[in-house]
Amino acid sequence: MEPMYRPRLLTPGPVELHPKALEALSRPQLHHRSDAAKQVFLQAKAGLEAAFQTQGQVLMLTGSGTAAMDALVQNLFAPGERVLVPVHGNFSERWAKIAKEAGLEVERIDLPWGQVVRPEHLGSATGPFAGLLLTHSESSTGALNDVRTLAQAFKARFPEALVVVDAITSLFVSAFALEGWGLDAAACGSQKGIMCPPGLAYAALSPRALERLKPRGFYLNLASELKVQSTGESAWTPAINLVAATAAVLEDLLPRLPEHIALKQHQNDLLYAAGQGLGLQVVPEARSPATTCFYLPEGVSYGQVKNAFAARGATIIGGQGQLKGKVFRLSLMGYSDLYDAYAVAQMLRDVWAELSA
Ligand SMILES: *Cc1c(COP(=O)(O)O)cnc(C)c1O
Repeated sequence: MEPMYRPRLLTPGPVELHPKALEALSRPQLHHRSDAAKQVFLQAKAGLEAAFQTQGQVLMLTGSGTAAMDALVQNLFAPGERVLVPVHGNFSERWAKIAKEAGLEVERIDLPWGQVVRPEHLGSATGPFAGLLLTHSESSTGALNDVRTLAQAFKARFPEALVVVDAITSLFVSAFALEGWGLDAAACGSQKGIMCPPGLAYAALSPRALERLKPRGFYLNLASELKVQSTGESAWTPAINLVAATAAVLEDLLPRLPEHIALKQHQNDLLYAAGQGLGLQVVPEARSPATTCFYLPEGVSYGQVKNAFAARGATIIGGQGQLKGKVFRLSLMGYSDLYDAYAVAQMLRDVWAELSA
């Protein structure tokens, strides 16, 4: 008998996998020093460079998205240099922690979680700064920052500084352009908008960032990677199966990226409309299409919402950090279409009818 509900991930990473990723993962194991592997590696690398819209380089690192964040901070800034970090959620807090651990002097701008960063927030910080660390889509609150405007405002005051962006849930979900937006480097991960399994990090470096590299560390040393990645190899054994999945999905996704981004926006709009129709309060000030985030109303616990979705085969996620127990989040960032969005919108209504009964 068919199950009533096929299990689904409605979480902002990992996500439902793209069929091309599944197909690539079912192929026989490649040896990473073979010509076939090099070809796949170069295909994935070129596709990622097109997606980030950079004339610089994208490096693939084995690790989750945080590995790319860590590598960028360690290899673009020297210990003792000052960076500005607006903190308004769990992932922007991660930038501050990574920078501190790397020995940088961190100037924080703490904002209420759910808010976005505005140029006037940056204006109050007195420099000089070597960099600005931004989170494009703050998946812990569902907020989307206008990183282009922020980079412009910051660089008007600190033209020598580098702007580094966490694009982990914005790439492939929302518009993005590295140099075109005045950004210098960005991080992404395989288990988000590109619909692959977790385990591969993408670090994008603009031509300007490439000139400013201050390599350090061993495993995540970007100079070691730059030396070999343009030939289709990597310094250490790469997660080559994930590289192949990345190349396969990009082949399908890149030619229709604007339509895909429009779909993600439409899906997220439908979920927000359904929740608002039930009287739920929206968390983000400006909405990222990667995550739908609502406050839990008085008397409803995250556990109840999670269990009601789980009874319908769906995995959702709660709040992180200071929003733990206060919000719940849904995401259709993975492989899904408008039918899925209508179904999840109706499921939210059904869950609410059950919880209110
Ligand atoms: C998922 C995510 C990360 C990276 O988390 P990993 O677990 O290391 O992949 C970073 N930033 C944002 C905004 C994310 O959504």
